[in-house]
Amino acid sequence: MLVIGAGPAGTIAASILKQQGLNLKIVEKQKFPRFVIGESLLPRCMDHLDAAGLLDAVKAQGFQEKFGALFVRGDEVCDYLFADQFTKGWNWTWQVPRAQFDKTLADEVEKKGVPIDYQTGVTDIKFHDGYSLTTVEHIDGSKKEIEAKFIVDASGYGRVIPRMFNLDEPSNFPVRKAFFAHIKDPKRPGGVNGNRITVVVHTKDVWIWIIPFSNGNTSVGFVGTPEFFEQFKGTDEKSFRAMLATDATTSDRFKDADIVFPSTVIEGYAIRTKKLYGDGFVLTGNATEFLDPVFSSGVTFAMESGHTAADLVARHLKGDGTVDWHNEYTVHMMQGINTFRSYVSRWYDGTLHDIFFARNIRQDFKNQICSVLAGYVWDLNNPFVKKHDTMLQTLAKVIGINEQQNT
Ligand SMILES: Cc1cc2nc3c(=O)[nH]c(=O)nc-3n(C[C@H](O)[C@H](O)[C@H](O)COP(=O)(O)OP(=O)(O)OC[C@H]3O[C@@H](n4cnc5c(N)ncnc54)[C@H](O)[C@@H]3O)c2cc1C
Repeated sequence: MLVIGAGPAGTIAASILKQQGLNLKIVEKQKFPRFVIGESLLPRCMDHLDAAGLLDAVKAQGFQEKFGALFVRGDEVCDYLFADQFTKGWNWTWQVPRAQFDKTLADEVEKKGVPIDYQTGVTDIKFHDGYSLTTVEHIDGSKKEIEAKFIVDASGYGRVIPRMFNLDEPSNFPVRKAFFAHIKDPKRPGGVNGNRITVVVHTKDVWIWIIPFSNGNTSVGFVGTPEFFEQFKGTDEKSFRAMLATDATTSDRFKDADIVFPSTVIEGYAIRTKKLYGDGFVLTGNATEFLDPVFSSGVTFAMESGHTAADLVARHLKGDGTVDWHNEYTVHMMQGINTFRSYVSRWYDGTLHDIFFARNIRQDFKNQICSVLAGYVWDLNNPFVKKHDTMLQTLAKVIGINEQQNT
């Protein structure tokens, strides 16, 4: 068994495969700790960390606990508290610098007996009947071949198998860009709101994330279409400071603050794939589809797919001929991805702004939406999961009518 990549998808998959008694290794292109974006987890992640035996190791790191998410538009504030959610599940999680988080998971998986070859990138894969031969190259230039009965591709943005076998498909979301940095945050507000992830509606098309960490630093990022960023000239740092100065939520708090991680730009990250599995391989995490950062769903999907894929691979390799990859993997994953797809679409067309900042919204609806924001997007008893797009559009219409009547 070979797992490509030691991010959350790879380490969750590896830990579950090891629990099932399989022989495996991970190859990882980079040296850990390494930076990757994706710092706000959803409570659904806790189920997977727990099942993979990784929860205690993460708890010991003292990461910033996350109990909800705050949305802000000018003076309007909407607070979603995971304790209020409809689906029975975890009501908290963490906000994590990913370098430390991913290294914690990888070290723990190694302790459980899974070897990780770092600085070793996959350069070629040949699939044969019942096995595959993967060529990997170490940073020192040495190459070797790894024979495996099955490959879990958890290579994230590297998208090893999709790129090698022409499985990439463009996303139907427009190209968006993110501009972000880690900043020292001595003026962090007191109370619970100071530590809570905040999503700020900057303009209808542009939003800002503010993700405080327990180490006193805060991750701040602007997301919008590339045109928005054209107005900011000069170095990345100069542009980023100019952006911070344009919003009331960030201007005072981060004025003159030290930038601890250089301002970074990522563009055109949304992508999808023609299929999620094939003979001898399964794609997980960002090697499958990545939608958008706005609801912090990326790591949740990485873990959900890593866990689900590992269970199916273990059954398959133990000779269970009943594994139904289409229904048990693709349909399962697409159920969650398509739910979030609706929420992302309705965020950018303003429908969710209308819902979040409505003056009156029924608490039971809010609790059901809260479960989606917590990552519980497989609970078909939740109408805001089962009929995700229809429920959002209908609710926004009703809110619009009520607000018209009250003005
Ligand atoms: C702007 C932005 C903000 C985001 N914010 C959030 C957020 O707040 N919350 C959230 O949950 N998600 C967020 N995401 C998404 C998140 O970054 C990803 O969904 C998540 O990191 C995917 O995990 P993964 O395990 O699939 O891949 P990764 O974490 O990318 O790990 C893949 C690993 O594979 C390795 N690899 C790559 N190629 C090879 C190769 N050839 N050989 C060997 N190894 C290889 C890489 O080095 C890497 O370590 C955000 C994304 C963007 C673009």
